[in-house]
Amino acid sequence: MAFSSDQVSDWIRAFAAAVAENKDYLTELDSAIGDADHGTNMNRGMQAVLAKLEAGGQDDVGALLKTVGMTLISTVGGASGPLYGTLFLQMGSSAAGKSDLSGEDWAAALAAGLAGVQRRGKAELGDKTMIDALAPAVEALTSALAGGAAADEALRRSAEAARDGMTATIPLVARKGRASYLGERSAGHQDPGATSSWLLLRTAAETFAAEDS
Ligand code: ADP
Ligand code: MG
Repeated sequence: MAFSSDQVSDWIRAFAAAVAENKDYLTELDSAIGDADHGTNMNRGMQAVLAKLEAGGQDDVGALLKTVGMTLISTVGGASGPLYGTLFLQMGSSAAGKSDLSGEDWAAALAAGLAGVQRRGKAELGDKTMIDALAPAVEALTSALAGGAAADEALRRSAEAARDGMTATIPLVARKGRASYLGERSAGHQDPGATSSWLLLRTAAETFAAEDS
C-alpha cells in the first residue's frame, strides 16, 4: 500500500480544511497562554498553500511538500510559520523524487520533519509544544510498522498518539515559546500548536485510510 502524490495533496487540503474549521478554537487556546493568533496564523498559511496547490500536477511528493513548507514560511509570522515550514521542508527532503509514499516512507518523512522542528525550536518532549503531539505520533507510527501493522492502521495509531500527546500538554508548564513567559500560569491549558499538530496527523490518517485502494 502506497500513497500517491494526489493523495498527499488531498491530505494537505484536508489539513487546510481542518485548520479553517478549527481556526477560532486554535486562537482561543492561544488566547489563554499566548497572543491569540495561532488559528489565524495557521489559517492564513494554509489558505496560501491551497492557492499554490491549485496549479496542480505535482507528481513529485518531495517537491509538493517543499512548496507547502516554503509557503508557510513566507506567509505565517510567529513561531508556528517557521516551525511548520521546517516540518514540511524536511518531510519534502525525505520524500524527494518519490511519486508515491509507502508507510515506511511516510514514517521516515515525518521523523525527518520532527527532527527539523526540534533542531529549529530546541523543544523537548514535555515542554508543552507541538513536539508533544508530533514525537509520540512518530514513535507510534514507527513501532506499529515495525510490528507488522498495515500503513492505514499505523497512521490511525499515530493520530491517536498525537491526540493523547496533545491532551497531555494540559497540566504541563510551558518551557518554550511565548507560553513559557507565563511560567506556572501556563499549566491547565492545552497547547495550541500540539492541537494543530493533532489535526495534521488526524487528517493524514483519515485521508490515507479513506483512499486506500
Ligand atoms: P506565536 O507563539 O509566535 O504567537 P503561534 O501562536 O502561531 O506563534 O504558535 C504557537 C505554538 O507554537 C505553540 O503553541 C507551540 O506549540 C509552538 N511553539 C512555540 N515555540 C516552539 C518551539 N521552540 N518548538 C516547538 N514548538 C513551538
Ligand atoms: Mg500566538
